[in-house]
Amino acid sequence: MSKNILAHAAKELGRRLEQLARVSDVRGETTRTFMSPAMGRANALVGAWMQAADLDVREDVVGNIIGRLPSKKAGAKTFLFGSHLDTVRDAGRFDGALGVLLPIAALQVIRRMGLVLPFSVEIVGFSEEEGVRFSSAYLGSKGYTGRLSQSDLELRDASGLSVAEVLAAHNGKSVSAPKAAHSKDDLIGYLEVHIEQGPVLEAKGLATGVVSAISGQTRARVSFTGRAGHAGTTPMALRRDALAGAAEFILEVEALAKARPPLVATVGWISAFPGATNVIAGGVELSLDVRHPKNDDRVAAFDDLGRIARSIARRRKLGFSVKATQDNGAVTCSGSLTELLERSVRACQGESMALPSGAGHDAVIVSSVAPVAMLFVRCKKGLSHHPDEFVHPRDLEAALSVVVDFLTRMAHQPAA
Ligand SMILES: [Zn+2]
Repeated sequence: MSKNILAHAAKELGRRLEQLARVSDVRGETTRTFMSPAMGRANALVGAWMQAADLDVREDVVGNIIGRLPSKKAGAKTFLFGSHLDTVRDAGRFDGALGVLLPIAALQVIRRMGLVLPFSVEIVGFSEEEGVRFSSAYLGSKGYTGRLSQSDLELRDASGLSVAEVLAAHNGKSVSAPKAAHSKDDLIGYLEVHIEQGPVLEAKGLATGVVSAISGQTRARVSFTGRAGHAGTTPMALRRDALAGAAEFILEVEALAKARPPLVATVGWISAFPGATNVIAGGVELSLDVRHPKNDDRVAAFDDLGRIARSIARRRKLGFSVKATQDNGAVTCSGSLTELLERSVRACQGESMALPSGAGHDAVIVSSVAPVAMLFVRCKKGLSHHPDEFVHPRDLEAALSVVVDFLTRMAHQPAA
């Protein structure tokens, strides 16, 4: 492919990411939440860019903006690209937006190369992934894949509005949970391009990497119960200090995860009761977050941590309980799509690296209707969910060349 066409498209992609970042509900930052006024403006802008790339553009009832390049081949199936256009508060300009704008640029490059794809392509800008407004993630991709449930529609935001009410206002009529946009057998696959949001690619000196799996997550609330007492008059031997027990457990969590890569385990929140400088802690609650790309390994780690906590509690004569608050299975990426993507990455940067995604993405939901693959793009210091989130223009061009190469290979697949 001509280097010039690619460089030009990558520059335009960089400019568009900047322009989209200025579309915000809050002046001076990038904040777009589900169905907000800024999300409407973002959809209009992205829709115009889709149109300029010759895509047929529509918006569905949950506010996803969808651009479709229909194939002229009879009976052609559809390949999907997508990511989310909503953001966290005061976000960067790459998280989500990259996975929508980069495929648009890739299709423009493909067209300029004169390549005609033997399948239809659909690019989806999902309306909600971050879970900011309704404290529940994936409303956009759930709507698109027909997985939005009645309980999703009943979720309420801080102002008391439900998802159903917000959708009714947006559509001018009440809407029930939408059906899937495609039948399963219409979909060839889904590719999500996303910034890594971690430091691995930067440490390896690689612009892009291929996601092997999206880690499953178990989150739990753990509590230790001891006996509160006077910090001056209770001898050390007679104490049942819940906070000291919790501290021992937290270090065990770290040690176990370190010994079992790529397992990651985190205690990110802790609260001690009664919580006074001169009182031995009688009770402690803490959060536990355990993630692994393999379900069995995650479940085993979580069970082992429970056993460790119980034995610490027994030895220290503490009460102990653990309650799982969330349990999501891992998503394995499609072997064939991932292999093809790895070939593209090797062709473009010489070396391909596989890495698990510790964060959830729209691909988790889309995996219920299509084989999925993900391309990670290096971001500076792994920083994300922050206005300083940064992808170097050279890396944008590298990622674009990978996706163009991938589409070219897909076009020559016998199945396509
Ligand atoms: Zn994201």
